[in-house]
Amino acid sequence: MEKIRLGRTDLMVSKLGFGGIPIQRVSEDEAVAVVRRCLELGITFIDTANNYTTSEERIGKAISGQRQELIIATKTASRTREGVESHLKLSLKQLGVGYIDLYQFHNVSDSDTLNTILAPHGPMAAVEEAKRAGLVKHIGVTSHLIDAAKELVKSDRFETIMFPLNFIACEAADELLPLAREHDVGFIAMKPLAGGMLDNVTIAFKYLLQFPDVVSIPGIQKIHEIEEIVQVVKETQTMTEAEQREMEQLIQELGKTFCRRCDYCQPCPEEIPISLVMAAPSFAKRMPPDRIFSGPIAEAIEKVAACTQCGECEEKCPYNLPIREMIVEQVDWHETERKKHKGQVV
Ligand code: SF4
Ligand code: SF4
Repeated sequence: MEKIRLGRTDLMVSKLGFGGIPIQRVSEDEAVAVVRRCLELGITFIDTANNYTTSEERIGKAISGQRQELIIATKTASRTREGVESHLKLSLKQLGVGYIDLYQFHNVSDSDTLNTILAPHGPMAAVEEAKRAGLVKHIGVTSHLIDAAKELVKSDRFETIMFPLNFIACEAADELLPLAREHDVGFIAMKPLAGGMLDNVTIAFKYLLQFPDVVSIPGIQKIHEIEEIVQVVKETQTMTEAEQREMEQLIQELGKTFCRRCDYCQPCPEEIPISLVMAAPSFAKRMPPDRIFSGPIAEAIEKVAACTQCGECEEKCPYNLPIREMIVEQVDWHETERKKHKGQVV
């Protein structure tokens, strides 16, 4: 597996990393097996967060005995000094390691949060102290909003930036990535498959492979998923004309305002599972009709009727999606599909 330099950290990491969110959903044995398979395939960069429930602990079990060969990244979403200190302690314990290679401030998406982190004796000061004590080797940050991410890079206080990058959510390629290069800030691409929206792995990773200095961290749940991705990465072929056409068609179909299924919009006071409602058409492509018109998807669509238009979800969505409008469109789509299915519409 090719290794690349992660910006000013000078760490050499495998071009393909491991995203630790989905291993929360499988059994512990399956999770450990997935991480171990990733290591066998040459992945040396592992990313997780202490708020990904069991993820750190499972990774800790899987990497036992191999820590020295790996670059471990984790995150804290705390905005207080005390919170950061206790999160770091917990991460070290859960991962079973003596130090974290890259400790990141999670989802910093506005100036106020940045100022809170950088306040004298605040969260950044705590992590810098941990760095001096050898508990943390490098400090990074993650964000979902482009303007905030640029500000983070320009601050020169972080050695890496993690931001979504895939051929649908590709705004980072225009300015953020060049800016990161200019400041020698390592670039970590989250959501290479757009949170599960992109199912053509070959096109998704060939798009990312064009950036020689970007490490991508697909969330992996099953062994076959990582094997498929590694195959594409190892072949390192450029996109064929047919793949290029398919990518352009997908860009047109999915558009720029699509839900990344990050669930930052939750909780909804009416318990509407917004991301599931948004993802219903993509599930419809892969599932038999009875799974669309009954069960969790149909129930999620039905719940939209309870929306009070309070707008809380839109305030929390890092992509500023017009959620209220979009969920109603999904209800219309579902109704049309149901009628088609019953043969009422040609
Ligand atoms: S606007 Fe509707 S969907 Fe959004 S939080 Fe309020 S009730 Fe939930
Ligand atoms: S609507 Fe926005 S916040 Fe909610 S899951 Fe989708 S992208 Fe995330």
